[in-house]
Amino acid sequence: MKLQKRKKFIKGNLICGIILLLTGTILELYTGITTIFQGNIKGINLNLTEINTSYNNKKDPLVKEVVYNDDPSWAFPTSTNYNITSSYSNYHPAIDIVTTDGNTNVYAANSGVIVTDSYKWDGGNYLVLQQDNGYYTLYCHLSSKTVTVGQRVEKGQIIGIMGRTGFATGVHLHFSVWNGYPYENSTHINPFDFY
Ligand SMILES: [Zn+2]
Repeated sequence: MKLQKRKKFIKGNLICGIILLLTGTILELYTGITTIFQGNIKGINLNLTEINTSYNNKKDPLVKEVVYNDDPSWAFPTSTNYNITSSYSNYHPAIDIVTTDGNTNVYAANSGVIVTDSYKWDGGNYLVLQQDNGYYTLYCHLSSKTVTVGQRVEKGQIIGIMGRTGFATGVHLHFSVWNGYPYENSTHINPFDFY
């Protein structure tokens, strides 16, 4: 080979080599990036599976949390912005509640059945609720009632409106809790034992 041709041959081979090298590097880079991407996608899928699994595992307890009847706590029978004007004692086996926010709704302290809807000279318009948890609650001096005897009520449901019927000097709720039907061989309990 003449010198001129040999130079051209070497030059050609060099260019070919550089092209091959570059192609190889690009291919390698591409493969590397693809692998990283696929790895991440696999990771994301795994995480999603984990989230789904943990969500499914938690589903049941979450539903149970909002089921009220299993809740041992009591609902306050009026708005929680209140003053106690007469506290619990053996002479006054109840609490007298006056609200300070103008809300006169009376709420069922717990789920149960209304067993008495009546009127007495002292208690005025009153309701007795037999609760599912075995206790009885008494609500006196109501101006009106939104439930009737035999009706099932849920904890926190409005059962009447506070008033001053019967022996009362102002609008308030006389609220008491009993172990057994009120005043009939039963014992009264301080309502604040439950709040
Ligand atoms: Zn009272």
